Amino acid sequence: MENVVSPLTIEQFYKFIGEKKLMAAECKHCGLKIIPPKPICPKCDSREMGWTEIKTRGKLITYTVIYVAPEEFQHLAPYVYGIVELEDGPRLPGIIKGLPNNDAEIGMELEVEFETTAPATWPQWPRYYFRPVKSKGEQ
Ligand SMILES: [Zn+2]
Repeated sequence: MENVVSPLTIEQFYKFIGEKKLMAAECKHCGLKIIPPKPICPKCDSREMGWTEIKTRGKLITYTVIYVAPEEFQHLAPYVYGIVELEDGPRLPGIIKGLPNNDAEIGMELEVEFETTAPATWPQWPRYYFRPVKSKGEQ
């Protein structure tokens, strides 16, 4: 029997986040890994796309400091919102926590942390955020 194929949707991506798994769509043909997932590979047009778990570390490629936030994030403001290029290739946007004075730096190493205490007023999907990699030696 074939594996049960989870739909290649952003809803499914957040469902995996809820299970503390960072997943990307992977092209079985050319190996491209993408977030958000797509059913057709944007590089080689293959339809052989499936889910794969990817590394949670990456480097900050761009960021901005948010002072006026959507209501559910206003308690965090001002905060840093950035785009991180993950080690496996996909680029993932998110809030960056744990920076003294919101002092972000392009190229800094960040890792995904899963939100376990999302307030009830948050959108229904579980969330994640980025934080600085604490020790390079750690697994
Ligand atoms: Zn491909």
